[in-house]
Amino acid sequence: LAPNAEKSYFESYADITVHEEMLGDDIRTNIYKKALLNSKNAIKDKVVLDVGAGTGILSCFCVQAGAKKVYAVEASSIAEQAKKVIMANGLQDQIDVIQGVMEDITLPEKVDVIVSEWMGYCLLYESMLTSVISARDKWLKEGGLLFPDSAMLYIAPICDDEIMVDKVNFWNDMEEVYGVDMSCLLPFARRSLSKEVMVKCISCENVLSHPQLLAHFDLNKVSHHDIQAVHHKFQFSSFGIADFQGFAVWFDVAFSASNSAKMNPIRPGILNGMSQQINDQPPTPQGTVCKHDVSDASKLTNEEPKDLTMEKVRSEAYTEDISSQALILSTSPYKPETHWKQSLLYLDSEIEVAQDSTIAGTITLKPCLNNYRFLSISLKCEVDKKKEIAKTYLMGYELP
Ligand code: SAH
Repeated sequence: LAPNAEKSYFESYADITVHEEMLGDDIRTNIYKKALLNSKNAIKDKVVLDVGAGTGILSCFCVQAGAKKVYAVEASSIAEQAKKVIMANGLQDQIDVIQGVMEDITLPEKVDVIVSEWMGYCLLYESMLTSVISARDKWLKEGGLLFPDSAMLYIAPICDDEIMVDKVNFWNDMEEVYGVDMSCLLPFARRSLSKEVMVKCISCENVLSHPQLLAHFDLNKVSHHDIQAVHHKFQFSSFGIADFQGFAVWFDVAFSASNSAKMNPIRPGILNGMSQQINDQPPTPQGTVCKHDVSDASKLTNEEPKDLTMEKVRSEAYTEDISSQALILSTSPYKPETHWKQSLLYLDSEIEVAQDSTIAGTITLKPCLNNYRFLSISLKCEVDKKKEIAKTYLMGYELP
């Protein structure tokens, strides 16, 4: 990557705003806190590497979990602020802030644990996972632990009438456009919606079929090569009559090392079984590792019981796991909102679908050639073997 692009990537993290947004995302930050504090057995007296430490929050949690030493590596100048936070909390003996790019710096020793919050929009935007992979290969001891240690990307077809009304029908309404007929701009406005990936929250009512697993990454094993092109073939069966307008993509990450330090990791068999099932036929969400149970989720979003406080909803939504084995940080539309929202890929025009209409196709996610921090998403799809559509979306605006 051109040095300028890399410089502007790190500069986007120099400002406080982005850190305020991340720390203000209490679902995100509390899951990390919980995952680390639940892992005292694994972290006590251990050496930890925090890849991309930002304000140093995760490094502080690691010391609270008993870490002997934390190397807090941060490339942007926010590292200077992290030093202040660490001093203010009297943690300077345990946490060493190293200002530099992970791939370029040298640590004094190998580490037992790597913690990192590397996930971008649509999981792969920013390509920070490559830095975690490099850090793992170079600095993590054999058998060391990663927080989180797996990531799952999901896809589902959606109907999003609200955005169509808000953004597109504006041009149809003569009153809105000062008495001038601008309805001829409608197709143009509709197409501009579908050029880029839109980061926006949808709700479970917008989802037209059971979500499918698009990709699963075991962070202990994933290679640089694995994330160069992530490809998935899908086939959805529509729940009912609706305007099919595009797809939503979102992710979960899991902390299976929390609780009893690898005594109960996610069994690979479950995951393999799941991905095979997913390739063969669309699974029900109940079959997924993250318990993306539509009926359960609808309780949270549609029919939220009156006496359930948001905090309780959140804690119940986010501490559930696979047989008490892993903590999950989910950005699903079936779960409470996070700052990642969902990533939406709109078609140029909607297609009416009926119950059991088949929406089939492929999706490929790749880092952009001219800037690997950006993401290029190619989509091909057809409904009931008619209407073939091929589109490429760019995800590459200013961060965050
Ligand atoms: N851990 C913090 C910040 C997460 S945001 C928190 O959870 O709040 C990711 C951070 O990683 C950013 O501050 C970014 O500057 C840093 N970063 C990304 N890639 C890096 C790399 N290769 N080397 C060092 N820092 C990196």
